[in-house]
Amino acid sequence: MSKVEEKLFQDRYRVDVGRPHIAIKNAELCAQCSNQQCTVCCPAGCYTAEANGRVVLSTDGCLECGTCRIICDEHRNVEWEWPRGGFGILFKFG
Ligand code: SF4
Ligand code: SF4
Repeated sequence: MSKVEEKLFQDRYRVDVGRPHIAIKNAELCAQCSNQQCTVCCPAGCYTAEANGRVVLSTDGCLECGTCRIICDEHRNVEWEWPRGGFGILFKFG
């Protein structure tokens, strides 16, 4: 059985440079977020907790699963859209 990391390696991702399809609405709210659950629930590791309490989002490699949109239930701080056509994840290569 392959590990998740090995399976993810089979996917390909086309970055829409300068037009991320997900955004954190208010970075200050993330600094006040008690659990910062997005940093542990995103299967692609797009959210990173920084030492200063802030959270950084990079949508490169996003699997479009929608988890971060649901899990941010305390502050509803995630702006989420599908990528434009032709961009984003392409599943099942290799
Ligand atoms: S769960 Fe929402 S509010 Fe909390 S750190 Fe993540 S994006 Fe910010
Ligand atoms: S949609 Fe899924 S893979 Fe993409 S950033 Fe949110 S949790 Fe991560």
